[in-house]
Amino acid sequence: MLKIGIFGVGHLGKFHIQNWKEIGDVEIVGFFDPNDQTAKDVISVFGLKRFVNMEELIDECDAVDIVTPTQSHYAVCEAALRKSKHVFVEKPLANNMQEANDILKLTREAKVKFQVGHVERFNPAFIALKKHSINPMFIEVHRLAQFNPRGTEVSVILDLMIHDIDIILHLVNSDVKQISASGVAVITDTPDIANVRIEFHNGCVANLTSSRISLKKMRKMRLFQKDAYIGLDFLEKKSEIIRMKNENEDENIFSLEIETPDGIKSVVVESPHTEHENAIKAELTSFRDAIFNDTPTIVSELDGYHAMEVAHKILEKIGGQKIN
Ligand code: NAD
Repeated sequence: MLKIGIFGVGHLGKFHIQNWKEIGDVEIVGFFDPNDQTAKDVISVFGLKRFVNMEELIDECDAVDIVTPTQSHYAVCEAALRKSKHVFVEKPLANNMQEANDILKLTREAKVKFQVGHVERFNPAFIALKKHSINPMFIEVHRLAQFNPRGTEVSVILDLMIHDIDIILHLVNSDVKQISASGVAVITDTPDIANVRIEFHNGCVANLTSSRISLKKMRKMRLFQKDAYIGLDFLEKKSEIIRMKNENEDENIFSLEIETPDGIKSVVVESPHTEHENAIKAELTSFRDAIFNDTPTIVSELDGYHAMEVAHKILEKIGGQKIN
C-alpha cells in the first residue's frame, strides 16, 4: 500500500484526489491546504483528513503529490525530499532555474522517485503514436485557451507552452541550437500570447503559438518528417498519420494515388487507435508503478528541468516582461 499526502486541493488537486481514490494499492493519508474554505469543501466531499502542519503530513506518507501554485512547488519538494519521500509535482517543476537545479540535487541525494505532471505524455493522442517511428523535421503547434485567472501567476510560456516544449524535447533527438520568440502581456503583467521558433542542431524547426486569451480552445501539434505527416489533437485525444506506402506493404491496405515529380505514389491515411483513457489517472498510476517496481518515472525531474530551461530561454528572448 502506497501512503500518499496531497498538497494543494484547489481545481486540479480535487481531480487528483478523485483519481487517487480509483487507483489500487494507494491510501490517501490526508491533505494540506492553507485555504480554510477549500479545506472544508474537501473534508465534506471526500472525507479526507486535513493536516495543518505540512511536516506532519510528510512524516506520515511514503509519497507526496504537489498540486499547489508554482511559487510553492520548491518549498514542498524540498521538505519532502529532505525526508526521502517520493515526489509527484505538477508542471512547471519550479518557479526559477535555481530552484530547479536544487531539486535535481536533492532528488539525487534522496534516491527517490520523482515525476513531473507533464500530463500530455499520457494523452491518448500521444500514446497512440508509440508504435510509430517519429523523427520530425518541422513542427507546428497551436495551444489556445480561453482566459482563466488560475495559472496566471506565471506567463503563458510556463503555464501552457511548457506542455508542448516537453513533448517536442521528447520527440526531437537533438539539442536546441537557437530560439527566437515574441510575446505580449495583454491582460496580465506577464506574456499572455507568444510565438516561438526553436531550431535544433539536426535541422528540425518547431514553431509554437500559445495563447491564454483566445475565444476558442485548440491544442494541435503537426509533425512533418521524411515521407509522413503526423497530426495530434490533444483536445480531441486523436491522432492521424498520412504517409507514403512502403513498397513491400500489403496490397490490401487502402491507399490514395498521388502524382509526384517522381511518378505516381501511394499515400496511406491511418488513425491510430486511441484508448479514451483518463490521462491524469494514467500519469498518477505510472508514478505509483515506478515506486512499486523501482523503475524510472516516465517524466523525470530531468525532463521537467529541460522543459523549464527552454521555457526560461524563451522568456529571456521575449524580454521587457516580468520573468517568472
Ligand atoms: P488552484 O489555485 O485552483 O489550487 C491551488 C491550491 O493550492 C489552492 O487551494 C491553494 O490554497 C493551495 N495552496 C497554496 N499554497 C499552498 C501551499 N504552500 N501548500 C499547500 N497548498 C497550497 O490551482 P490549480 O489550477 O489547481 O493549479 C495547481 C498546480 O497545477 C499549478 O502548478 C498548475 O501549474 C498545475 N496545473 C497543471 C495542469 C496540467 O495540465 N498538468 C493544469 C492545471 C494546473
